[in-house]
Amino acid sequence: MSVADNIHQLKSKLPAGVKLIAVSKFHPAETVMEAYDAGHRVFGESRAQELKAKQAILPTDIEWHFIGTLQRNKVKDIAAYIHTIHSVDSLKLLEEINKQAAKQGRIIRILLEVHIAQEASKQGLSPEECTDLLKDIRLSDYPNIKICGLMGMATDTDNRDLIRREFHLLRTLFDEIKQNFFPNDSSFSELSMGMSGDYPIAIEEGSTMIRVGTFIFGNRTY
Ligand SMILES: *Cc1c(COP(=O)(O)O)cnc(C)c1O
Repeated sequence: MSVADNIHQLKSKLPAGVKLIAVSKFHPAETVMEAYDAGHRVFGESRAQELKAKQAILPTDIEWHFIGTLQRNKVKDIAAYIHTIHSVDSLKLLEEINKQAAKQGRIIRILLEVHIAQEASKQGLSPEECTDLLKDIRLSDYPNIKICGLMGMATDTDNRDLIRREFHLLRTLFDEIKQNFFPNDSSFSELSMGMSGDYPIAIEEGSTMIRVGTFIFGNRTY
């Protein structure tokens, strides 16, 4: 199966309202172009350096999403064009994104990353930290970001019930946060969850954005 076939197959089964982020990290720009030529425009990258290099040579109508750990000193490298940053897990990072977006005269969409997996290594706020962060900040102090929702990664496991429980927890937290902090803000509407191995479960649990790499592009060589 070609990249184009994989994209078409995946998109043909996506329910309305679920957006596909094609995760192109570790794959060269030519591979991104195969998906682009198949009509896809939304791509995700996890390293600022790699994104910068690809963005410079790829078509300008690509909608770039940042999904990996983002160091604060790298925000300025992507602030001119990044569409959505999925991996915001501290107030300091949020502040820096607001600052760099202001310098560019832009509004950058962000998602708060919540740690839902059992692995200790994965980044993200705990559900409590996420709620506390929202209690502590005045959104009007950050006019150059828009908090559009939550992102999470389930445990890397064959235990489908565990994966489902983790996605369900994130969905429940999303609903609570929506009600408590964004009741009249239609922008707070995104739930970024689901990867190659678990996106069907994520969709059943309410995902609006799936981040799929391996299924489309094959295995990555690190
Ligand atoms: C790499 C990555 C993905 C894509 O994973 P696949 O298993 O290749 O689909 C999704 N989300 C994040 C945060 C990633 O780092």
